[in-house]
Amino acid sequence: MQKYTHTFENEMNDAGFLQNSTDEHRASDARNALRSWYLRHARPLPWREKPSLYGTWLSEIMLQQTRVDTGIPKWHAFQSTFPTVADLAQASEDDVMKAWEGLGYYRRARLLHRAAKVIHEAGAFPSTHADWLELPGIGPYTAAAIASIGLGEPVAAVDGNVQRVAARWNAMPLPVDAPQGAKAIQAIADAWLHHDHPGDHNQAVMEVGALVCSPKRPQCDACPLSPTCQSAHNEDLWSQLPVKKPKKKATAWELTWHVVTHKGSVVAMKRPSEGVWANLWAFPELAPPASFAHAGLLLEPVTHILTHKRITCTFHHWQAPSLGAFQAFAKENGGQAMTWTQFQSTARPRLLTKVWDDILAALGEEELR
Ligand code: SF4
Repeated sequence: MQKYTHTFENEMNDAGFLQNSTDEHRASDARNALRSWYLRHARPLPWREKPSLYGTWLSEIMLQQTRVDTGIPKWHAFQSTFPTVADLAQASEDDVMKAWEGLGYYRRARLLHRAAKVIHEAGAFPSTHADWLELPGIGPYTAAAIASIGLGEPVAAVDGNVQRVAARWNAMPLPVDAPQGAKAIQAIADAWLHHDHPGDHNQAVMEVGALVCSPKRPQCDACPLSPTCQSAHNEDLWSQLPVKKPKKKATAWELTWHVVTHKGSVVAMKRPSEGVWANLWAFPELAPPASFAHAGLLLEPVTHILTHKRITCTFHHWQAPSLGAFQAFAKENGGQAMTWTQFQSTARPRLLTKVWDDILAALGEEELR
């Protein structure tokens, strides 16, 4: 196979790629190498075994911010709860949130639910990339992935993995998350695309990104793109790619949750429908009146990172002086008195589920009865 050694920095057009026939040959070699590599190395993921539009759509939404190992059991469980798009469309939002628990980023679940309603009303799944783009929660990457895998439409899907592989392959110095860099990455992905097998092709590039061209330790020796890649075996290059715009600094959020209890019950509150953890259940942020006994802090402050937010959460324990005072506090603050088991069956923020057992242990059996 021809070895490509020139760099592209001096000859970038607007899209940064496909200036000349060398680019086309290089892209064609990359395409063929990806195809034969994928046929030998594709992981046997459940949504690939018996592909369906519903299963592909779910997998694409679930895997947006979730690791494949976590996504597989959730994908099976979600489809047992909602076997069809009609079941999902007709479910309550609380049930959808509950089924989503453990995956985090609940906005995805809300948008999935809204999209299911649109599909159910239309009576059929969208049949083109452009139609998928019209649905809530479907951006260019997801629409391209579903249309290519589920419908065989020749559109190149670009996610974070593809950005990294393409930026390294072309030693591209532009930030991939800025307009010019994004355009350049799309041009590379379009040039690579296998028009006869677009679904396999898109999965091949993503798979190379996930398994071979990893952020910190790319395995160029095992990479099908190595003969055509500008960064292959060149740590000075791959370690700096992809270039990203400087990140916004995370803001600090000092959060206090009040664990208000009375004889085995606790006050839970559904969070507002907008903002952080919308519609999930958590503890009140408002302290109860002075007649409640402050039993101290339940845990050391817990740190939790959300996009652009660094949360430090403190859990105060309060015991209500009477059932009446307990119920009145719940009612006045728009909360609900629940047993711990009922609270546990609601959809809760990840910050809460990750320390849930520690909270119960800190309260002790006496308090939970
Ligand atoms: S050759 Fe190396 S740097 Fe290039 S795409 Fe493959 S793993 Fe990444």
